[in-house]
Amino acid sequence: MSEKKIQGLGVSEGIRIGKAFVYAPVRIAETVEHTPGDPETELPRLEDAKTKCIHELESLIERAKVKLGEEKAAILKGQISFLNDPGFYPPMQKLIQNEQCSAETAVQKIVKQVADVFESMPNEYMRERAADVRDVGSRLLGQLVGHGGKRLTEIDEKVIIVADDLTPSDTVQLDKSFVLGFVTRVGGKTSHTAILANSLGISAVLGLGSGLDEIRGGDELIIDGTTGECIVNPSAGTADAYRVKMESEEARLQEIREFAGRAAVTVDGFGVEVAANIGTPEETAGLLDKGAEGVGLYRTEFLFMSRSEMPDEATQYEAYKSVAEAMKGKPVIIRTLDIGGDKELPYLDLPDEMNPFLGYRAIRLCLDKKELFVTQLRAILRASVHGNVKIMFPMISGMEEWTQAKAIYEEVREQLANEGTPVADTIELGIMVEIPSAALLAPNFAKQVDFFSIGTNDLVQYTVAVDRMNEKVSYLYDYFHPSVIRLIKHVIDASDNHNKWTGMCGSMAGDPLAAPLLIGLGLHEWSMSPTAIPKIKQVITRLDRQECMKLADRILEMDTPAQVREALEAFLENIGV
Ligand code: PEP
Ligand code: MG
Repeated sequence: MSEKKIQGLGVSEGIRIGKAFVYAPVRIAETVEHTPGDPETELPRLEDAKTKCIHELESLIERAKVKLGEEKAAILKGQISFLNDPGFYPPMQKLIQNEQCSAETAVQKIVKQVADVFESMPNEYMRERAADVRDVGSRLLGQLVGHGGKRLTEIDEKVIIVADDLTPSDTVQLDKSFVLGFVTRVGGKTSHTAILANSLGISAVLGLGSGLDEIRGGDELIIDGTTGECIVNPSAGTADAYRVKMESEEARLQEIREFAGRAAVTVDGFGVEVAANIGTPEETAGLLDKGAEGVGLYRTEFLFMSRSEMPDEATQYEAYKSVAEAMKGKPVIIRTLDIGGDKELPYLDLPDEMNPFLGYRAIRLCLDKKELFVTQLRAILRASVHGNVKIMFPMISGMEEWTQAKAIYEEVREQLANEGTPVADTIELGIMVEIPSAALLAPNFAKQVDFFSIGTNDLVQYTVAVDRMNEKVSYLYDYFHPSVIRLIKHVIDASDNHNKWTGMCGSMAGDPLAAPLLIGLGLHEWSMSPTAIPKIKQVITRLDRQECMKLADRILEMDTPAQVREALEAFLENIGV
């Protein structure tokens, strides 16, 4: 096997060497194509697939009991019962006999029939079993087409995942102890898949395009999440060279990690808070050691996306409480549900939209589906007694949305007080500034909100009118665009004028190149992927705020992102960073 090199987009740092696990979920199609087959070959194929499925499920059940709990184990046991049910497997055999069709056709047809029956039942619990039927059906199909039916959550050996695409909900379920990294055909730098890979510390290369077809399951892979290189079946020489590179990278990271425990204070004494962005409670493990002085953004939508039904108040409460407790009194900013755009919730069954990023999403959806919003606020408020919880609302575009969201918050507070449920005395309430209309109105908002958190990931896409997911226009997607910088200044100045504070939780906050500019503009709180924290602290401790303010003044006069980058690069080089 000769070595091949494929170039992608490095989105989450780290060099990894491991075996390729090709993930290609087979789904039960809506319309089943009839492919002919000889019962003599198809019946044993089906039987073999069933046996393999049962073995796979049995070993998963053992693991699930230890790792995922009895509930998940019970679901898997239910799938074995389906395979042994007289109304499920024998009809597939009969179909192959009677219609001379392939095992795949038989599985597809019967699974669809059975799932449709469940779906038409009046009882909600029974209706939900349709998903289990489809799931076991796709396991059978996975065995038939030869790559097994293993789900991402079921990976139990060290691998690099190879997939057309991984959704954010796929990514959030990955087990870091087995998944060394992943490569995909599509995807951009600020997609939520990339953001999650970063915060989970999983190396990732996206956008390999047709290069992905060069990779087979079991191939030896090297990926470099910084440069975007992906090497398939490397020669011994290449593998050795990358091992050396891996070691020197590790040494460099070790040096930077020394800064984790330091305070982020400039040489002339301007101190800022450096916090972490997280998507799941599990990500709080080791967060304090990584230097996080709080959680600046808890993206709660991943709690909603990693399950097949809406998490109830108790489930949400447990998650928020565990984050608040893990941070031991340090600030935890919980962002209310920000669904929409590239973050979907299948069980909400929302209609397709022409422009999902401009559509029915985030706070718009929460204000419309008040029950959902109230449940989440109740859970957050109840969790507030377990730490230092703050709340922020995403995608605020105008004052009415803030007023309505705050009114519902007050209602929920009163409800809980009437019930005698304890809630923290003061909870700071803020808004995300990620839409230019909100940034421009910052002086008005500053009179009412406790804080702002600038979401540059969306602010860039709405200011420059450039889809954050579209690789074709990614050359335009740049937070160093002078218009974006002016908006950021406007927001920070507004908060300063009203004794409030401004944070930033978009990717710009974690970019060392942006640090002199953001120090110059006076950003108070910085929140980023945990892996970026030590480096940002290292850079900040070398900066002089007075010099950064002069630099920011110069940058504010510039015409293009390229000029801004050049000025920042020269500035950092000059001080030896
Ligand atoms: C942002 O838009 O910058 C942000 C932090 O939110 P998200 O990336 O989840 O949209
Ligand atoms: Mg956003």
